[in-house]
Order: sequence, then structure tokens, then C-alpha cells
Amino acid sequence: MTRIPEQTIEEIREKTNIVDLIGEYIQLTKRGKNWVGLCPFHGEKTPSFSVSEEKQLFHCFGCGASGNAITFIMDLENRPFTDAVHELSKRIGIALDFIPQQGETGSNQQFKPMIEAHELAANFYRHILLNTVEGEEALAYLEKRGFDRTIIEQYGIGWALDDYQVLTSLLERKGYQLEEMEAAGLIVKRDDGTGYFDRFRGRVMFPLWDDNGNIIGFSGRLLEKLEHAPKYLNSPESPIFEKNKVLYNLHQARLNIRKTGKVILFEGFMDVISANKIGVQNTVALMGTALSESHLVKLKRIAKQLIICCDGDDAGWEAAKRFAQMAISENVDCQIALLPNGLDPDDYIQQFGEQSFKEQIIGKPYSYMSFMMAYAKRDKNLQYDNDVMQYVDEVMEELAKRPSPIERDLVIRQMEEETNVSEEALQQLLTKKVGRQVQEERKYATIPSSEASNEQMPIYTENRQRKQNATNRAEKMLLHYLLNDGELFDRIYVELFDLFYHEEYQTVFIELAAFYEQYKTPDYHRFAESIANPSLRKIVLEAAMYDSNEEFAAQEIEDCIHYLRKEKVKGQIDEKQHEQNEALRSNNHTRALELAREIIQLRQSLEAL
Ligand SMILES: [Zn+2]
Repeated sequence: MTRIPEQTIEEIREKTNIVDLIGEYIQLTKRGKNWVGLCPFHGEKTPSFSVSEEKQLFHCFGCGASGNAITFIMDLENRPFTDAVHELSKRIGIALDFIPQQGETGSNQQFKPMIEAHELAANFYRHILLNTVEGEEALAYLEKRGFDRTIIEQYGIGWALDDYQVLTSLLERKGYQLEEMEAAGLIVKRDDGTGYFDRFRGRVMFPLWDDNGNIIGFSGRLLEKLEHAPKYLNSPESPIFEKNKVLYNLHQARLNIRKTGKVILFEGFMDVISANKIGVQNTVALMGTALSESHLVKLKRIAKQLIICCDGDDAGWEAAKRFAQMAISENVDCQIALLPNGLDPDDYIQQFGEQSFKEQIIGKPYSYMSFMMAYAKRDKNLQYDNDVMQYVDEVMEELAKRPSPIERDLVIRQMEEETNVSEEALQQLLTKKVGRQVQEERKYATIPSSEASNEQMPIYTENRQRKQNATNRAEKMLLHYLLNDGELFDRIYVELFDLFYHEEYQTVFIELAAFYEQYKTPDYHRFAESIANPSLRKIVLEAAMYDSNEEFAAQEIEDCIHYLRKEKVKGQIDEKQHEQNEALRSNNHTRALELAREIIQLRQSLEAL
């Protein structure tokens, strides 16, 4: 395994700003000295994830995750240390002389040839489109549809020749295993088993990327309709291309999504390109699949609000409804931008102009409930009582799932106006529906075990729990100072070697002794990285995250030491008392007396502390 020089790691650490890095994954807001957001490591609705720019560390008060830029990448993307360092070096433009080797670096590396082959194919297709006679027709076609050079470059668009062998031969010449290339979806095996041929022929090629900007598949579009051939041909599912995970354009839109706090979700990737042409850049698209939980988790991490924008035809309405319901069930705040008269985004922009698209469509999305009302109204004529009843019923069914009393009130008032059904009647129907839904939920609900055991927790354990927490706090605070102050460490090391109460803190303390022996100066980043055990590393980083105040530092240190020393003696007294009881029970009066004396001594020393 190649080692990365210590100096390089140092440089990467110095040049990477953790706030920018994490900000690319989740939405961060400044609060006081730190930045806060929703933790990417556990599901939560109120932010307990905190990033310190000053310390270049992050910490989650909800699940306890903590670390620095390098461990953030390691933990979030489940990548090994060298891989994470490599990723960060790419980000800040430092060239590393080493490339993570296959095998040593997780699943990503295992499929590296597949990704490289896709890069090669994309470059090849683009070269043909832009620089050859064979690409001229396709290029003219694209230009006519408003694809200029910038867009072609940005989206890596190319042209696949109408030829069965050209890519297959290229891949073979470059030394790729054709079997592997077939699994990656680039080529297809002949029925008679005599070899392989190109999957994409005579199509405009649009690369598809993963979240990191690696090309993992293609969508190929015919220039004109052909019989027995689909207009769009997508790569098949492969080890690198999983449709229910891919969000088209996420790697390019991430920064813009974070800036605006909003992400626009389209049905198809061509909509993303159309929107980008008019400068709307916080957009992603699905690759012909349902909106999955995995998609939503990703979007939730970086955006506060999801705007769903589907075509204005029947299929589009249905898709928008499915997406919106899925989003709501995953607690994602979503709105729906509606296109009129069966138009798709590109048609709309052609007809009504970009300003109108930005202001009237994207700028004025429907709330979830008003969309559901519009949806329910589509196939009804409110002149007929039957349709009115049906309409009221569908809307109340949906409204019963919405917990906000204000939203319920607003919708009921609007319904009253629209349908002339009285407020009381609407309210009654809603109450009935809420009741039924609660019953349904109860049927499936299970009582969480932790809640049940909490109720029965005896008072003394609670007290002990509280005391343990106080001890823990003191240990954490003291460790914080020890991480930053070598002299303090030396003092404690000599005078109070066994000060820490909890074994894991004591272990960290011993590790820290070894660290100071080797490096002399404090550096908690390096120290944390040197600890192999993740739970010990967490203790270190948590302590490093603690916000100390220069002014009170000396006092705080003394308080911690004092508290921990007292706790130590108290623990010893408890032990002796226990032993004394045992001695009395077995009639060993001499021993009991001896212990009584020792206890008195300990009590005296406790008072003297
Ligand atoms: Zn968390």
C-alpha cells in the first residue's frame, strides 16, 4: 500500500475548509460561532449537527457523530482513509503521486474500469460530434434546438456512430475486458456467442453521472423516430448504474441547491438542460423511475425545499402526485410547479419565454394541499352534486393526513367557498377521516421499548445517571484542555495519572501520552486520526469540539480536576463501605474496624479537597 506523505496530508487539511466541504452535502446556517444543519448521519427534523470553522471539526449532538474533513468523507461515503484524502486533494487541486489501488479502497475502486471506460466512451462520442464529418448532422440538429457549445461541453453531449463495432474495438484496443464492459452496459453480447457489439448506435449521447460526477451510464436519443426503436435508449442497470439512486445533474447543481435552499425535480433529464439554458441551475431529474427513499434522503441533505415540476399532460399530473405523496411521507417539504395545457418545460419556455417560466411556473409553485385540490378537481364538474361530494371526500381524505391546524383551517375555508358545503359539514367529515386514520395507524403501531423501560426506571438509577453525566462532562472538558495544552498534560501526567474515572477516557489519556512523546506539540486532528478505535476517536473529537472560553480556562481546568478527584475519593469510600458491610456480615470485626478507620481518613481527605 502506498503511503501518502505526512506533509501532503497536512497541506490538504490546511487548504480544505470544512464548512465549504460539508456545505456541499447539507444545508448549513450560521449560528453564533458555528454552522448548523440537519445531520447527514441520522434522520432528524431539527438541526443538531454543528460545524466549527475555527476548529475544522463537526459534531452531532443527536447521534454523537464527529470528526474532521477527512473522517467526514470516510464516514459519509464509507471510503477508506487514503481514498478520502485523494478525494479532498482533487477538490483543492493538489496532485498526489499515488492513485488508490484496486482492492485497498472499497467498492468504488472495484468498478473503476467500468467508470473509466464510460469516460473514454463519452470523450469519444463528443469528439465525433464536435470534430468529425460524421457528427455534422447531429450537431446541426442540436444547434437548431438551442444547444450551443457551452451546453454541449457542460453536459458532455456526443454522437454515437451508426456502427456495430467502433466502440467495442476501441475498448478492446485500450485493454478493457469485454465481459466487464458488457456488464457495464456499454456493449452487448451477440446471440450466437461470437463476440460483442456496440449498444448505442446512431444516437445523440447524453452521459449520466453519479453524485461525484463519474460517468456511469448514457441516454441515447434518436434524431428522428424510427420504427421498432425507442426514441431514448438508456444504459441498463449495472453495478455502477442504479436508477433508483441516480439524480441526474446532482453533482453540477449541488452548490446552487445549497445556495438557494431549493431543488427543482424534473421528470426527465432534458428538462434539466432546458432549465439550465435559461440560467435555472438548481435542478435534478430522475432517470425514468419512481422517486425513491434514497433520492429523497440525498435531496433532504442539501435542500430545505423540494419543487416538483412535471409535464402538464395526464402522465405528468400522475407523476407529480406520486412524487409529492412520496416526499410528504418522508417529511420533505415539497411544492409543485404546474405546467399548463400538456406542455413540457421546453415547450413552455418556447411559447411563453424564460421570464414567464421563472416567475410564473418555478416562482409560484402550488403548496401540497392546493396541488391535491387541483388534482382532485381535474376530472370533475362542480356543477353536479355527485362530483362535489366526490371532490370534498378526496380532499378531506388528504387533509386528514396534514397535521397543521392552520393548513386545515385554510383548506376548509377555501372548500366552503368553492363548493358551498358548510364549514360544519366539512369539519365533521374531516374529524371522521382523522379518526379513521388514527385507528389505522394504531393497528400497526408498536410501543418503542425504550419508552416503556424509561417509565419504570427507579429513581436511584436516574440519580446515578445524572452523576455519570456530570462526571462525563468534567472528563470531556478536561480532555479538551489536555488536547490543546502540552504543559497541562505534563502536569497531570506526573501528579494525577489516574484522574479519569471512565476507562475509555483513561485509555485516551494513555494514548495521548504516547502522542505527546512522539510529536511534542498539540494537534488533535493528527491525534484523532492516529487512533484506530472509532469510539475512542469519537471521544477525542467530541472533546476537541467543546467550546472553551480563554478567560475562564484556568478556573475550568481546576474545577474539573477538583471534581474528578472528589469523585475518585467518593468512589473509594463507596467501595470501602461495601467491603465493611461484608466484613460485618461475616463477623470479621477486626477488618470492619480497620475499614472504618480508612473510611474516616478518606472522608477527611475529601473535605480537605
Ligand atoms: Zn447525527
